[in-house]
Amino acid sequence: MEQTFLPLSRPAIEQQEIDAVVEVLKSGWITTGPKNAELEDAIKAYTGAEHAVALSSATAGLHLTLVALGIGPGDEVITPSMTWVSTVNLITLMGAKPVFVDVDADTLMTSAERIEALISDKTKLIIPVHYAGAPLDLDAIYAVAEQYNIPVVEDAAHAIGCEYKGRPIGQTGHCIFSLHAIKNVTTAEGGIFTTNDAKLAERIRRLKFHGLGVDAFDRETQGRAPQAEVIEPGYKYNMPDICAVLGLGQMQRLESITRQRQDLVAHYRELLSDVAGITPMSVPSYTHKHCWHLMIIRVEPSICGFDRDQLIGLLKQQGIGAGIHFKACHSQKYYRENYATRFGDINPDLSNTEFNSQRICSLPLFPGMQLSDVERVVTAIKQNIGSSHEA
Ligand SMILES: *Cc1c(COP(=O)(O)O)cnc(C)c1O
Repeated sequence: MEQTFLPLSRPAIEQQEIDAVVEVLKSGWITTGPKNAELEDAIKAYTGAEHAVALSSATAGLHLTLVALGIGPGDEVITPSMTWVSTVNLITLMGAKPVFVDVDADTLMTSAERIEALISDKTKLIIPVHYAGAPLDLDAIYAVAEQYNIPVVEDAAHAIGCEYKGRPIGQTGHCIFSLHAIKNVTTAEGGIFTTNDAKLAERIRRLKFHGLGVDAFDRETQGRAPQAEVIEPGYKYNMPDICAVLGLGQMQRLESITRQRQDLVAHYRELLSDVAGITPMSVPSYTHKHCWHLMIIRVEPSICGFDRDQLIGLLKQQGIGAGIHFKACHSQKYYRENYATRFGDINPDLSNTEFNSQRICSLPLFPGMQLSDVERVVTAIKQNIGSSHEA
């Protein structure tokens, strides 16, 4: 019997959010305006950050941060290769060198020791990545960053709803959240920059809209003051209110979104606990609240009898979507072929990154998915492993 397709992810959009989008469409003000301000306030209230700037994407946020911190030719930026390509692309486009740091084999996150080993007198910035919904070991990483006086920008694309030692990601430091369609809270496309540094927030706010000196939405004139001037050349990375209002609705349901993900993952982990060759990933040992952006397993081909790519194919045949988060950046065509000539030696020890890049697979996980869907996925995996697991 044909079963309906179970996707890797589906955005959690409720009728009240659809109604709110329609209201914005009818309001006469569809681009950046009051809903942006409300979304920024909601992010500030949740994270505890003093400043939040809504943007067109997390990638835009990374770009503006690199610009604001003056990253350019001759500079090195330490970041994992086990991440989405946007960070590495932007460091490269800015003319700086991405210095790839390895990750822990099971959490897929980098560590203070690994970062410290790569610091040189050219290191200008560290961009570590909160992974799959778990937090980085921030205390250790900031201790190293402060010792060497190097700024940190946290890639918090996966981390809305995640806590480290009792505090939400975003409460401290400079963080960039993604609100892309797959992320836990979405505006279809979007990003949010948070910081407690008022000057940096003001600069990002200016750079995101042509470098104009005024951003405030004026309720009287329905827009910014027509006299606003270019303070410095800027970009066009603002978020439309049609999008912002979507994210606003989800921020109000963040607890329930996170809880649904946690429940689904608990079921996955329980059902997979006795499956040899399949290892669920991403639970750090320090105190944290996991917001479970992704349910990642590692496939050991010598035990399973199939490799990761074969598993993705097998699941697809059974109507189940799967993903890879991520294929190591340094193994992507451009970096494979050009890293050495452009940047020189690559960190020779990326063994955990390379090992996992071949083996990790993300399974369906989204609010609204049922526990029976989890059972369907695990059954499909077990059936393919062989008869020993069949009832
Ligand atoms: C999604 C993602 C990004 C980019 O987010 P966009 O909003 O799509 O630009 C950056 N880093 C990581 C780790 C991501 O998963």
